[in-house]
Amino acid sequence: MRWILFFVTLIGSSICSREKFFGDQVFRINVRNGDEVSKLTQLVNSDNFKLNFWSSPSALGRPVDVLVPSISLQPVKSFLKSQGLEYSVTIDDLQALLDNEDEEMQYNEGQERSNNTFNYGAYHTLEAIYQEMDNIATDFPDLVSRVKIGQSFENRPMYVLKFSTGGEQRPAIWLNAGIHSREWISQATAIWTARKIVSDYGEEPAVASILEKVDIFLLPVANPDGYVYTHTRNRLWRKTRSLNPGSRCVGTDPNRNWNASFAGEGSSDNPCSEVYHGPHAHSEVEVKSVVDFIQKHGNFKCFIDLHSYSQLLMYPYGYTVKKAPDAEELDDVARHAAAALASLLGTKYQVGPTCTTVYPASGSSIDWAYDNGIKYAFTFELRDTGHYGFLLPANQIIPTAEETWLGLKTIMEHVRDNLY
Ligand SMILES: [Zn+2]
Repeated sequence: MRWILFFVTLIGSSICSREKFFGDQVFRINVRNGDEVSKLTQLVNSDNFKLNFWSSPSALGRPVDVLVPSISLQPVKSFLKSQGLEYSVTIDDLQALLDNEDEEMQYNEGQERSNNTFNYGAYHTLEAIYQEMDNIATDFPDLVSRVKIGQSFENRPMYVLKFSTGGEQRPAIWLNAGIHSREWISQATAIWTARKIVSDYGEEPAVASILEKVDIFLLPVANPDGYVYTHTRNRLWRKTRSLNPGSRCVGTDPNRNWNASFAGEGSSDNPCSEVYHGPHAHSEVEVKSVVDFIQKHGNFKCFIDLHSYSQLLMYPYGYTVKKAPDAEELDDVARHAAAALASLLGTKYQVGPTCTTVYPASGSSIDWAYDNGIKYAFTFELRDTGHYGFLLPANQIIPTAEETWLGLKTIMEHVRDNLY
């Protein structure tokens, strides 16, 4: 009996600590007009179904992906049917995908331990990513340094890699990833990109010519607390882990927290919402740390934020349908970048301003960057288009990173040639 108890405790503490999603499914709901949007909004706002929206409803006719817990499957189906809303099931066994991912990660960790390597085709813990950042900086001390820009709410360090060939306060590019913790392909693409920059430098003239004129700052994990939480407690956590006084709900959406039409359309004042904007602009220390760093530096020309999923390349604005003054140039650059990305494996991206491409979103990072004089501001929504959603299998990390690199490089070359 004692032994059984021992094993139960052991399993309980290691494997079973993360939230399970047995029987849960992801629905893709079609919305074709304003009427259907408001029906769907009714569904979003009803607390009883315990739904988790993987994408937000908008009037633009994009389908909406929703995680439906097993106990809500029947009532949600009935609701959709009664409202005449069409849907399909995109993920019919969410837990199976999670189990797969988990097994792969554990197997890989064992391999990495015995070979003392870092497998870029696998997902990693925060600790492993930080270690690899350190390794890159140690391997290329003349080109890379690891800079601490602040601490998260739960006191984890926030590290960026600075790529520079010298010179004081050169014009700079900010590459941001993982602001939404569950979008694992984003952090994985970022760390791959770091290794790509150092291995291409000296081999590929494009990288050297970019670094001759500009510095690159790469933040692979912009929301470290959330990222750790996705590994230990809930794989689908999106927000920060800051506490909200007076509410049982934790966290703020760090991509609604920037001082760009803060608390406007496409964000929520409800701490339980996935798009809660927080008590005030830059309330999240993770956001504030980036803002302070960029403002103190004073010479950033480009800000790129990596998210998933949907295969979109967007530019300001998210908070208004108004055209950004540089919209034409940004659209042109984005189209070239999307074409370069597609040239590798044919992966198609849609291009446009955030607000009219996906949905209104106020308080976002790239709008803040743009409104603060950083003209070349872009958001990538990486793979896929919903087949796996946030649970993109690890065997897609390298193809995703490789194609994305071509897009990133196109943007960085444009910045290099059009410094202002
Ligand atoms: Zn995101």
